[in-house]
Amino acid sequence: MPGELIDNHAVLRRHGLHVTAQRLAVLRAVSDGPHRTADDIYKVVRAEIGAISHQAVYDALAALTDKGVFRRIQPAGSSARYENRVGDNHHHLICRQCGRMVDVDCAVGDTPCLTAGDDSGYEIDEAEVIYWGRCPQCAAATSV
Ligand SMILES: [Zn+2]
Ligand SMILES: [Zn+2]
Ligand SMILES: [Zn+2]
Repeated sequence: MPGELIDNHAVLRRHGLHVTAQRLAVLRAVSDGPHRTADDIYKVVRAEIGAISHQAVYDALAALTDKGVFRRIQPAGSSARYENRVGDNHHHLICRQCGRMVDVDCAVGDTPCLTAGDDSGYEIDEAEVIYWGRCPQCAAATSV
């Protein structure tokens, strides 16, 4: 879609990034499939633009995350995931069994949405919340 292409160009420029084929492809891979890992993104980008190194994908991800185009989520014991929904304070549900991750709106809305019992003098700006459990598919599969 030409419209989408122009949009992604604008997104990169607005964040002070040079437009490259790699960055555009990485941007597309993440907007089409939020919460993908670097490895997934590498596979998608490779299928789309052909020869590209792991390093080039990591570099593009680092630049895009650094500039705030992407949010990087690092769940304990799993690879980092990337998404381009950055404008709000939403959280994530992760299935312990299959690793599927979905968005969940924050019940409060702004950060930090949890009050610390004792802030020890820290200026707290965020509470990182990840809900762990089993997705409906995995729950259904094991309850048979
Ligand atoms: Zn699952
Ligand atoms: Zn998300
Ligand atoms: Zn919240």
